[in-house]
Formats: sequence, structure tokens, C-alpha cells
Amino acid sequence: MAKRLNCAVIGYGGMGSWHVEAIKNFKFLKLSGIYDIDSKRTALAESKGIHVYPSLKALLADPTLDFVIIATPNHVHKKITLAALAAGKHVVCEKPVAMNVRELREMIAAAKKAKRLFTVHKNRRWDRDFQTACKVINSNTLGPAFMIESRVHGSRGIPGDWRNQKRYGGGMILDWGVHLLDQVLMMTLPRKITAVYVQLTPVTNENCDDGFRVNLTFNDGLRAYVEVGTSNFIELPRWYLCGENGTAIVRNWACEGEIVKVSDWENRDAVPIQAGAGLTKTMAPRTDDTIRRYPLPKVTCEWGDFYKNVAAYILHGKPALVTHEQLVRLMTLVETIFTSAKTNSVIKCKI
Ligand code: NAD
Repeated sequence: MAKRLNCAVIGYGGMGSWHVEAIKNFKFLKLSGIYDIDSKRTALAESKGIHVYPSLKALLADPTLDFVIIATPNHVHKKITLAALAAGKHVVCEKPVAMNVRELREMIAAAKKAKRLFTVHKNRRWDRDFQTACKVINSNTLGPAFMIESRVHGSRGIPGDWRNQKRYGGGMILDWGVHLLDQVLMMTLPRKITAVYVQLTPVTNENCDDGFRVNLTFNDGLRAYVEVGTSNFIELPRWYLCGENGTAIVRNWACEGEIVKVSDWENRDAVPIQAGAGLTKTMAPRTDDTIRRYPLPKVTCEWGDFYKNVAAYILHGKPALVTHEQLVRLMTLVETIFTSAKTNSVIKCKI
């Protein structure tokens, strides 16, 4: 790619500054500058030699700018996206793309009208732990899968900024939730979700969800359990995957873990063990002659493929990896989860 694309970052906070650093890794991208409403953040950018636009209007009026990266709190994603598209800029928006499906549809319609890229930074599709879990499930290594468990656990509560205020799009469903739910939607294609049930697990915050546990049922009977906790001082494994012939565990982002598969179904002579105050044969551990242990499969994933795809779309009209259809599906699931939380009921659906 000979041409360099000029981009600007709107919202120079944690994630905005992360994008500014990341852009330096791509020869085909050039940072034109940033804009932030907070003078402390713009002063910091200036101290690093980054050009600061005096206003959003000035940024969007820059004719040399090809695309913008929106990394503001969630409640202004729509407003800034619409302004950027109207100014003829391509848009990469941070997750969650919008507060609800209605907002998202408005953004998609504006992108279609402007004939510009409108996509979302779904960086966690390139997480190695996710790609590993995907490979285990979709290679049929475990036989027919019946349960996918995906969790992230922290112990610091929900951050005390806009993230714990509903009106700014706070809460863990819209934060870590959209990452984990997007991953589960991608790894279970082409199945449809037929039932959703969530329990919120508020501990540190009453304003919005600081943790949740959601159960998803798919049309072929597969189930997924997705959990985000912010008051968990001992974390459970990142992925726990069950198939009819075996189990896989991916313990952490570093992909420690293993696969254990049955090697001899016929050998049913379990010896009862003493378990607590009783005996059990059902729960007796397997002996090595009926199981085999395997390492997790190796995967390679390059997060940079996201920005390569953004450039390929803008320069050569290649299809976007993160599509509008995927975004609407995810946001529909998020809305269904909120409905389940509000009504404390299982929501039947086709998502
Ligand atoms: P942050 O609070 O650290 O930064 C937000 C910045 O936006 C602040 O500097 C704030 O002053 C600025 N801002 C607020 N309103 C603005 C406006 N109208 N115009 C311009 N600037 C404005 O938050 P963050 O952690 O950087 O999160 C920003 C976005 O990035 C959120 O949507 C969040 O969900 C997302 N995020 C994504 C990931 C990921 O892995 N993809 C990780 C963290 C955050």
C-alpha cells in the first residue's frame, strides 16, 4: 500500500492514547492529530508533540483527513459518528458502538448515505485465548460441543469514572460484556441464539451492572455461559469448553491449559472413592488408561489485521471484517440481556 491514510483520534483518554501509540506501528497510517474536550488531556498530547485540533469542527474540516477513530465515552459515539460521516470521513468507533440498536441503525444508515466506512474496533477477536478456544470448538476436537464457558474476573470493582454511570453507557455489559459476547457469537456461527437469561451481580455499584452472568441457548442445543466479575479475588479459568468426548481449559490470556479426552469409553470399571462424608463412583477421577492429555492447539493472530482491513476498505473497497450485520446482532443480544435483567426471566428469541 503506497498511500498513507491520515487519521485523527477523538477522545485522548486511555484508549485514545493507546490508538495513538498503535498507529505508529503501521507504515500506511499517519496520525494527523487528536481532539479532546479535557484541557489536561490536550496539554498532555501537546507535550508529546501531537497536533491538537482546537475543536471537533476544526478536526472534521481538515480536508487531508481520511478517517477518524472515536475513543470517547459511549454516550457520544453516535453524535460524533454522525458528524464525522456528514463531513465525509470514514469512521472507526470504539466499542460498544452505541447505547442501543436504535442508535446503531441510525449510524449505519448515515454511513450508507455517506458511502463511508463505519466499523468498530473489535480488537478482542484477535485475542490468542479466544482464537485457541475457537479452534478447539470448531475443529471438533472434543466431539460435539455442549458447553462454552467464557469468563473474565477482576477484583477492583467497576472504575469510578463514567463507567459506573448508566447515562454515559457505563456498566460491565457494555464494557467487557460486548467483547465476550461478540467472541461467543463469532465462534458459534452459523447457530442462532434461542434463549437468553442473565443475572446481574451488583457488589460495588448500584447505578449500573458491575458484573453479570448470562446463559445463552443455541438452536442446536449448544449452551454458552458468559460471566464478567469485578469483585473476584480468585479468578476462574478464562475458557472452559465441554464436548461429548472431552474437555478443554484455557486458563488465561497467556493460553496455559490443556485438553483431556476419553480414550477408552468401554472401560467403565470405576472404583468408588471416598468423597467427603460419602462414597462416589460417578465422580471418581479417571485413571490414565481411559484418558489422554493433549496440549492446546497453537494459533497465530495478528491484531494489526484490523487496521490493515480498515486501509484495504478505504483504499481498495475490500469488505470490512467487522460488519454492520454483526454489530446489529451483538447489540440486539445486549438489548435482550437488559430485558432479561429487568424482567428476571428467560427471553425466547432468534438472534
Ligand atoms: P477515558 O475516560 O480514559 O477517555 C475518554 C476521553 O474522551 C477522555 O479524555 C475525555 O475527556 C474524552 N471525551 C469525552 N467526551 C468527549 C467529546 N465529546 N469529544 C472529545 N473527547 C471527549 O475512557 P477510555 O477507557 O479511553 O474509553 C474510551 C472508549 O474506548 C470507550 O468507548 C470504551 O468502551 C472504549 N474502550 C475500548 C477498549 C478496547 O479494548 N477496545 C478498551 C478500553 C476502552
